[in-house]
Amino acid sequence: MSLDFTSAEVSQALPSEEALQHAAASLVNSLPEAGLGLEYIKKHLLADIAPGFTGSSKCPTYYAFTTGAVTDAALFGDWIASTYDQNAHVNLPKETVTAILEDTTLRLLQQLLSFSETDFAGRIFTTGATASNVLGMAVGREFVVAEAGRRNSPPSQISVAQLGVLEACAQAGINNIQVLTAFPHSSLYKAASAIGIGRDSVILFPLTEDEPWRFDMAALREHLANGAGSIISISAGEVWTGRFATTGEEMIQIRALADQYGAWIHIDGAFGLQALVLPHTEAYHYLNEGVSSFNLADSITGDAHKLLNVPYDCGFFFTRHPQLQHTVFRNPSAAYLSTNPLSMPSPLNLDIQNSRRFRALPVYASLLAYGRIWHRDLLERQIALARRIASYIADSTAYELLPNDDLKKIYIVVLFRARSDSLNAQLVSLLNASKQIHISGTSWRGRPAARIAVGTWRAEVDRDFGLIVQALEMASRTAIFQDLDRI
Ligand SMILES: *Cc1c(COP(=O)(O)O)cnc(C)c1O
Repeated sequence: MSLDFTSAEVSQALPSEEALQHAAASLVNSLPEAGLGLEYIKKHLLADIAPGFTGSSKCPTYYAFTTGAVTDAALFGDWIASTYDQNAHVNLPKETVTAILEDTTLRLLQQLLSFSETDFAGRIFTTGATASNVLGMAVGREFVVAEAGRRNSPPSQISVAQLGVLEACAQAGINNIQVLTAFPHSSLYKAASAIGIGRDSVILFPLTEDEPWRFDMAALREHLANGAGSIISISAGEVWTGRFATTGEEMIQIRALADQYGAWIHIDGAFGLQALVLPHTEAYHYLNEGVSSFNLADSITGDAHKLLNVPYDCGFFFTRHPQLQHTVFRNPSAAYLSTNPLSMPSPLNLDIQNSRRFRALPVYASLLAYGRIWHRDLLERQIALARRIASYIADSTAYELLPNDDLKKIYIVVLFRARSDSLNAQLVSLLNASKQIHISGTSWRGRPAARIAVGTWRAEVDRDFGLIVQALEMASRTAIFQDLDRI
């Protein structure tokens, strides 16, 4: 059997029923007294178990979630990270290069996305965007309560990290911390729960029913004027529609409001942040605007396992307030954990985890192997494919493009539904039935909808467009025959 499983493309987006059943049935569920051996394991994993996986990385037409795939360079980096099993926790420059490599990689990422390395001196790899959102909410919480204390007369120095939320808020004279947003990812609620301010503290300011992802700036302004302790969280972009919360002009206004009222600005850019690599052209005007003036934010969430196409799990976090990040996440000094004061802080004092996987290495490998142009071309290819599908859907009689027909606003996701209710009810299962493509089901304004998310480096516009159209036509024909049968 070939062990070269790195480059093979797989044509199935989902495993067959039999492969799934076989994989589950093959699991060894009583612990062997004597080990079965490495050769057995290699065969078992490759022949029995792997056929029961989705094609999320290996099949170019897997469009569910926004999984991204894995580039060969990232896979190689990941292999080396596991082989050498470095613990990327403490900065020990005389012992290992891990911490400096992590910082270097984060700077390369800042160069890719055009963030100033000096302004965003707080930077760290996390386990994913959810963890980065927890960091953003935690550091934001530290800031807004401290800021309320500074604005009291007489001013007082208050730290949630030290006192806890209840005592710190009492001392600062505020009775809650709020997260003000328009159309957040579900992980924002989780972050609010985890950091002790609660899911109910997430308050939505959608502009209209038609554009719920945009901020109602007037309502936001009014709300801020009436209370302290606010974290403003911006979705860039929104996961179902791919739309963006703000324009550059609005970001400037939000910065002014945040400064006026002592609020914190967090950006959840788990998949929209990538739009920063795009050229400034008419075709991308909407997307350029959607990520404009992001250098005004206090903290930023990014995902590497999505559009950067490195293996799970890998997210990143940038902030302009490295000191506050350290205040929240530092270990009380244990001698062996102490930071080398002459260089950068140890990652374990900036992150949730202490022991940490060396997840910078696959990112380093991929960024260097492919470079800036490749990343830009990749996103342009993904957008081109999404727009071609969107345009086909907008022109079709069987399908309807959501949330509207504005093709210039299409990023890398296409949300749509079938016009006929009977087709719409089974649309996702019909499209996924062939297992050649796989998409997500959702609902949009109370009715079922389907979503295609293009996130893989394997995307090829002509080939993949052809496959999707084939699936869409097949689904609508099947539904017509079913309708005829019923007559
Ligand atoms: C995917 C995503 C998340 C959650 O990211 P994980 O990497 O799955 O933790 C958060 N926010 C947005 C906008 C996302 O797209």
